[in-house]
Amino acid sequence: MATESSPDDSLSDRLLRLEDAIAAACRAASRARSQVTLMAVSKTHPVEAMMAVRSLGPTLFGENRVQEFAAKAAQLSPTQRSALRVHLIGHLQSNKAARAAELFDGIDSLDSLPLAQRLQAAAAAQGKILSVLLEIKLSDEPTKTGLVPGSQALDALLEQLPDLSHLRVDGLMTIAPLGRNQAETRNCFRALRQLRDQLQVAHPRLELRELSMGMSSDFPLAIAEGATRIRVGTALFGARTAPQP
Ligand SMILES: *Cc1c(COP(=O)(O)O)cnc(C)c1O
Repeated sequence: MATESSPDDSLSDRLLRLEDAIAAACRAASRARSQVTLMAVSKTHPVEAMMAVRSLGPTLFGENRVQEFAAKAAQLSPTQRSALRVHLIGHLQSNKAARAAELFDGIDSLDSLPLAQRLQAAAAAQGKILSVLLEIKLSDEPTKTGLVPGSQALDALLEQLPDLSHLRVDGLMTIAPLGRNQAETRNCFRALRQLRDQLQVAHPRLELRELSMGMSSDFPLAIAEGATRIRVGTALFGARTAPQP
């Protein structure tokens, strides 16, 4: 893909190339560049790298672990922290909900009603409104988390969400299965958009505007299928060296 990075690239070179590829994908899909937000996935990278990216323009960041971002947040001044919007994109255990509600501006991996209730209670106690996306599981990969379309768990959550006043549901998120061909990956992104369209009709009190889908290797396909938020780590920050637990 056009966004392969080599180790001696500078961050600004990688961002320029990434922006070119995003713009090309938007043009090919007859979409405006402004309809797609770049989320910089900063997991495993230090706060210095986050602030360097921030200085080049992007404001939205994705982190996948509560503890990791807690350590980073402690290194950010209040001014630096308020210059960033940081969302959790990894699985959240209920017992960390209160901490996550405190640390993050949004939770893009909401996957159960009990977790939503925990986040609601924590956000209410903290006097904040949390943006949330529902993580949807569209593949049969056993290790994946996420809500299954048509499941009782998804229905129960959608029923309750309008009454959870400290959660603002902004849309859906999915992670495409690894190692599939382009057609299969694109089908997965299309399925998320179609599910959003169906759920929006069935739940008119919600505003499911956002579709968070596509990563370094497949974001052009996601943009073609209507992604409003792409989550890019490697193509922006370079390869992750720390192991992913
Ligand atoms: C790590 C991660 C990404 C970014 O992956 P890259 O391939 O490095 O772009 C996107 N979404 C989620 C949920 C992730 O955990």
